[in-house]
Amino acid sequence: MKRILILGATGSIGTSACDVVRTHPSDFRIAGLAVRSNRERAEALGREFGAPVFCGEDAAERAVEETDADLVLVSTVGLSGLAPTLAAIEKGVDVALATKEVMVAAGELVCARAEAKGVKILPVDSEHSAIFQCLQSFGGRGATALPDVGWRGRRDVSRLILTASGGPFLDGPDDLSTVTPAQALNHPRWKMGPKVTVDSSTMMNKGFEILEARWLFDVPADRIDVVVHPESIVHSLVEFTDGATLAQLSPPDMRVPIQYAFSWPDRLPAERARLDLATLSSLTFRAPDEARFPALRLVKDAARAGGTKTAVLSAADEVAVARFLAGEIRYTDIVRLVEAAVDAAPDLPCDSIENILAADAAGRKLAKEWNS
Ligand code: MG
Repeated sequence: MKRILILGATGSIGTSACDVVRTHPSDFRIAGLAVRSNRERAEALGREFGAPVFCGEDAAERAVEETDADLVLVSTVGLSGLAPTLAAIEKGVDVALATKEVMVAAGELVCARAEAKGVKILPVDSEHSAIFQCLQSFGGRGATALPDVGWRGRRDVSRLILTASGGPFLDGPDDLSTVTPAQALNHPRWKMGPKVTVDSSTMMNKGFEILEARWLFDVPADRIDVVVHPESIVHSLVEFTDGATLAQLSPPDMRVPIQYAFSWPDRLPAERARLDLATLSSLTFRAPDEARFPALRLVKDAARAGGTKTAVLSAADEVAVARFLAGEIRYTDIVRLVEAAVDAAPDLPCDSIENILAADAAGRKLAKEWNS
């Protein structure tokens, strides 16, 4: 019986996580539920699962301190996931990480602390879960969890390939400057929260996932490629040095990667849609259009700069998306704004929570003040 603490319990990932626990009552128990503001819904879940509920600004950190869990699912929004992730690591509790901003902003710091404490960080993001699953099929270090499954331990891995759905604007309109919030929130494949849905449409989300993979698997960013795959069936691939490539496929359903993070290293049976290749008949792939989606290049540049530049990037993007959704800036201003903030912010070493928070604050301030 694995005791799981769910941070961000009423969000899209948290809701799916509760569903995974519901269907495996003899394998998982909810140790606690933390939410920032959705108290009513959280208390209903608390009654259903017989679990304590934590609500408020510091709910996630309090929940980590006050519950006995074997695994903490971090699925809060944005950098609010950092403090509870570090608290779980400090306590020696393994983390299932859905909040990619934690790795985008503070991957270097989080991985160093996790390694020092021997804490495993299990991917929940569908692409990273796919890569993790592909790495499991090999013996040796591949049979253990992160951070052991790192680049350093895997001389047989030559490249990671992240798939991207391409979002709603893959084939048009030609002029993205007039895109409305309603259009950007209409993702063709995945139902997700508004921030990540807009990030998917700009491909900033895929850029963040390059950084997430860079830290989770300890792979240099220049060995991580992106391929557009609109059907979202192949969730990502690992290319090995002998020329073999492994992929993980399944119908798009976040319960698959969530459940794998919970059940790892085992798999548990579940009643859900199965892949039927004959019905699908074709899967398509193409290179991303970096001129149309400049976020990919911007993220790679920030990754190369290192330090706290990616923390600035993450913070500025959060503000930019909020400003776009509020009608303050145009869709095409999102990446322009983020780039301006990354260029203007000072670069600090990514070795303390103070530096990360300073970079985050600088990114937010620059993003709020930016004018086209
Ligand atoms: Mg993803």
